[in-house]
Amino acid sequence: MNIALNLVEDIDKVLEKGDAVIVMGAENQKQLVMCCPQCGKRSGSAGNHVYDEATRSYSPSIVHNKDLGGCGWHGYLKNGRFVNA
Ligand SMILES: [Zn+2]
Repeated sequence: MNIALNLVEDIDKVLEKGDAVIVMGAENQKQLVMCCPQCGKRSGSAGNHVYDEATRSYSPSIVHNKDLGGCGWHGYLKNGRFVNA
């Protein structure tokens, strides 16, 4: 997989694989609500993820958790690209 991050301004525009919007997390860290680059389903972030605008990267790695209705995809957002783990 190698899909470009497409940051949008409004959560209502997070519609297709790779789309994402920045939201503030519980500890005022920048997090993403994104469409999964594998299945396209929109979901938010659980836990302590942080989006780094300087590097267009997200850490730790992304898991689209099957227990929460996801597809099980595991990968990374690095330098503005979604790639497999
Ligand atoms: Zn998925």
